[in-house]
Amino acid sequence: MIITIDGPAGAGKTTIAKLVAKRLGAHHIDSGAMYRAVALAALDKSVDPSDSRKVAELLSKIEIIYIPLPSGFELFLNGEEVSKRLRLAEVTAGSSAVAVHPRVRKHMVSIQRELGRKYDLVMEGRDIGSFVFPDADFKFYLDAGIEERARRRLMQYNIKPTTKSLASTIDDIQERDRRDSSRQIAPLVIPRGARIIDSTDLSIEEVVEEILKAVKGR
Ligand code: C5P
Repeated sequence: MIITIDGPAGAGKTTIAKLVAKRLGAHHIDSGAMYRAVALAALDKSVDPSDSRKVAELLSKIEIIYIPLPSGFELFLNGEEVSKRLRLAEVTAGSSAVAVHPRVRKHMVSIQRELGRKYDLVMEGRDIGSFVFPDADFKFYLDAGIEERARRRLMQYNIKPTTKSLASTIDDIQERDRRDSSRQIAPLVIPRGARIIDSTDLSIEEVVEEILKAVKGR
């Protein structure tokens, strides 16, 4: 069984995908973590994440292993477990820059499809229902208003939402969404056949229930 959850930055995909997977006894796969791992490798090696030639060279020297666990996941970058470092602000910024390169996408998609052959899964990302698993059993597109997404992102980092912090987070999110939606290969789109859920005014439990109802109803 493959369930896909796509959507823009800060829409709550990780929280929701994790809970849905747990309730269904499936594995949660955070595909964004894989792009973040490439951005982290670039940061560690002082490679400009927007330089496609240098990033491709770097890619040939790195090994990414994603292991889903009941409590989350482990991600090994050349043998080192790096999941905690993937949330650093510089890594977040670099992730959407490395994600435009065709070589990077090809490599990540092969890891993701391989996981799909092994596990029942709930995979979240930007192109999962549209490109990685176009024949998935269930597809969802999770969205929320930009202010709400920025507020959730700040809360995730334990930062108080002020006019200033909200404005700069909105800028960061919009910049990432713009890059993700406008890239040439597998941009962020609403996948064909996906159920759209606007979570702006919904609680986490309400979103999870809506997804479970759709899955169990079939
Ligand atoms: O989901 P998350 O915010 O962790 O993703 C980080 C970045 O990875 C996104 O901004 C996007 O550029 C890229 N990404 C992607 N395709 C996916 C998942 C993530 O391009 N399926």
